[in-house]
Amino acid sequence: MSEVANRRAWAIIVHGGAKPIAPELHQAHRDGCLRALAVGQAVLEAGGSAVVAVEMSVRALEDDATFNAGYGAVRNARGDIELDAAIMDGASLAVGAVAAVKTLRHPISVAATMLSQTPVLLVGDGAEMFGREHDAEFCAPADLLVDRRGDPGCDTVGCVALDSLGNIAAGTSTGGLTGCHPGRVGDSPLPGCGLYADNQVGGVSLSGEGESLIRTTLAARLMHSLESVAPGAAIDAALARLGRVGGEAGLVVIDADGRIGWGHTSAQFAVAYASAGQPPHAFINRDEDPQEDSA
Ligand code: ASP
Repeated sequence: MSEVANRRAWAIIVHGGAKPIAPELHQAHRDGCLRALAVGQAVLEAGGSAVVAVEMSVRALEDDATFNAGYGAVRNARGDIELDAAIMDGASLAVGAVAAVKTLRHPISVAATMLSQTPVLLVGDGAEMFGREHDAEFCAPADLLVDRRGDPGCDTVGCVALDSLGNIAAGTSTGGLTGCHPGRVGDSPLPGCGLYADNQVGGVSLSGEGESLIRTTLAARLMHSLESVAPGAAIDAALARLGRVGGEAGLVVIDADGRIGWGHTSAQFAVAYASAGQPPHAFINRDEDPQEDSA
């Protein structure tokens, strides 16, 4: 069969973090998610890969001060910024991740560069050294700070994409939790906790209280359920498991058939999604979205 005959419908979903969002910031979150979605959508419509679509969408979210990732990250208890990011390629099960980095302008792109390398996760100075060795973009930590005007900004951005060749990728990027202990790393750069992708099953990107997501290996649990049920049911099962330890979460999912699902226990969770033949939609709360497991 030719490659064209093998082509499938693409799909993409981005999120801006599971958290309470003040009403006056709803539009900024919708708009930011839609802008980031459009970047990844353009990659997929041009026949680009899911990995590139996820990297490009997450870069756009890292550039948007509305979100706590890259530019706009929050300070830890010492007043420093420490960023975590990861990307996973569901075709090869390769993972690239960085944690507790302070001067990488786009942590997701350094994580993407790691996909072809042996290490899965590099932290702190070692991750920044890797970035220097691979011509990453750097900035002063102060350049990432914005006045959050009372918005605590604790959240994570993420994206899952399915490309027209059936490849799935997932990514996350975060500034962590406001006031957290220096050196604290949450779920976002940990495969099986903050993200996972496997072409045979689907992909997931999470946001929420990292310690709870790690204790419940929530991405792994979601993927396990996704082997036998649709995204909506898999999300419900994952959120029920989270109840064992408490904490809030939000998840975005695409399965191997291109069905999109999302859910959250936080007050709000900004998402935008689109797929071949379906126009972009953006929401702040799952209750606003009439669709069940949209394909
Ligand atoms: N999951 C992130 C972390 O724990 C934060 C968040 O998504 O709100 O670092």
